[in-house]
Amino acid sequence: MFRLSKRSEQNLQGVHPDLAAVVHKALSLTFVDFMVTEGVRTPERQRQLVKKGASQTLNSLHLPQADGYAHAVDLAAWVGEVRWDWPLYHKIADAMKMASSELGIPIEWGGDWSTLKDGPHFQLPRGYGA
Ligand SMILES: [Zn+2]
Repeated sequence: MFRLSKRSEQNLQGVHPDLAAVVHKALSLTFVDFMVTEGVRTPERQRQLVKKGASQTLNSLHLPQADGYAHAVDLAAWVGEVRWDWPLYHKIADAMKMASSELGIPIEWGGDWSTLKDGPHFQLPRGYGA
């Protein structure tokens, strides 16, 4: 059982409460500790990420949606240090999916995308709550 750091809690500010609830629940289920590295993004930061090739879309769910909340978070595996190995992200995704089904809140994992897989990325389905 892990706890979110202050920084992770801060990075959840502005994230849709349902997605934040899934993150909190997942932390009680996961075998791999993780931190929240990013939630809400400004349009300016999103433009910079696209320019750098770090993001593919200007229509990211990290941007505040119609309800005022970001609908995406990026998580980083924490094993005494941040690690990016895929097996860790599969374990985190297992916990996120279990939390999602326990809470009845649908989520999508960037690691399940067929192209440009994004292991740290989790989002509510586009149009969620609309
Ligand atoms: Zn992301």
